[in-house]
Amino acid sequence: MTHKLLFHDIDEPGLNTIEVYKRRGGYQQAEKALAMARDSIVKEIEVSGLRGRGGAGFPTGKKASFIPQGKMDKYLVCNADESEPGTFKDRELMQKSPHTLIEGMIIAAYAVGANKAFIFIRGEYVQQAEILEAAVQEAKDAGYIGPNVLGRGIDLDLWVHRGAGAYICGEETGLLDALEGRRGNPRLKPPFPANQGLYQGPTLLNNVETLAAIPHILAVGPEAYAAMGVEASSGTKLISVSGNVQRPGNYEIELGMTGREIIYGLAGGPDPGRDVFFWFPGGSSSPVLTKDDLDLPYDYNSLAGAKTMLGSGAIIVVDDSNSVVDVAVKTASFYKHESCGKCTPCREGTNWTTKMLKRIQSGEATPMDLDVIESVCDQIMGNCLCVLGDAMAMPVASMVQKFRPQFEQHIETARAANEARLLAELD
Ligand code: NAD
Repeated sequence: MTHKLLFHDIDEPGLNTIEVYKRRGGYQQAEKALAMARDSIVKEIEVSGLRGRGGAGFPTGKKASFIPQGKMDKYLVCNADESEPGTFKDRELMQKSPHTLIEGMIIAAYAVGANKAFIFIRGEYVQQAEILEAAVQEAKDAGYIGPNVLGRGIDLDLWVHRGAGAYICGEETGLLDALEGRRGNPRLKPPFPANQGLYQGPTLLNNVETLAAIPHILAVGPEAYAAMGVEASSGTKLISVSGNVQRPGNYEIELGMTGREIIYGLAGGPDPGRDVFFWFPGGSSSPVLTKDDLDLPYDYNSLAGAKTMLGSGAIIVVDDSNSVVDVAVKTASFYKHESCGKCTPCREGTNWTTKMLKRIQSGEATPMDLDVIESVCDQIMGNCLCVLGDAMAMPVASMVQKFRPQFEQHIETARAANEARLLAELD
């Protein structure tokens, strides 16, 4: 069940240059697409069943079909602000094959009639931004970007814009605000960017992997792409496996493999003598699964059925040498730090939850605090301006629910240790 499209040539030396990329068949799909009717490209993407690879899994063709037709300023924005903990697939893709993304963007921009395109890349990806900038220049010099692309009367401009290191700018409307030069805060949705996005214009906003998949869909054909994977989870997916595994890294899989095949088969499993304690299937914002869930098929529907999500495809494995309390503190602290503060449930909720978890960690809590944490998480979920609050509440609530005995044990042991220390100090 490993089929290589995006990573087929990924380790080919020099693939980041247009010369090697073209030698491997690069830009043929853009040339083909620019001779096709715009709506037939959107149709092909719809038939392929491609779903947004940033994390939400929204049908890509459907999103493109929402972009209004007719003459007006329309934009294409690539979300390269890859910041979800455990996610590093777009980084490898941009670093080693930047032209695949650029080719996908040329096709997508043409399909929706956008003639201004942006790649918003996270500030920490300095090397990748430099590689992309060089690749964009090569594509301009070769006539794939610029006025009158390939002599077909279409204009396309493409800019690489570097973020300043805020997780919230990966949220699509925060990203748009940042791109417009403002502080990156999420906007209320609807309107969705497809209707009112950058500079209030219709904007197709997709993740790096989503856009990079488009040339491959046209190359293999949408039906062949749809035949890969399993129902409602077609094609191939890049996954990042990290944490307590012997072979961490990015893998390209057909969705539908089991968690065990990925964690043990591909990534080598935890070190000898260690066992999987729990795992995040879709980045640190996904509700955790236990080792009893390892045989679950790794696809959108199966994971949703297990009350979690595939998200950005980032599997983080936690082995039995770790404390679930420490992992919960680390997870909550990250989202508390990154909360933009615009809406109250997220700003206050991530702060309170982190404080309560730290009290548990340091032995100053009682088991009743676990009920309070669950209640706070419950009040965050679905009540924030964007998904950042939920991104903390979902994994934390799942850890407390699934590992309550371990939390209670920690509370007892840490309190007893504190008491013993105080008594010793009094002696
Ligand atoms: P979402 O479900 O709100 O939206 C998904 C996409 O579909 C968006 O582009 C949205 O504009 C579009 N959409 C949805 N309904 C629409 C409609 N009716 N009309 C037009 N467009 C519509 O999810 P989201 O907030 O964009 O993303 C959340 C996901 O992001 C999380 O599940 C998480 O996995 C992921 N995430 C990824 C990273 C990363 O680094 N890759 C970081 C943080 C979060």
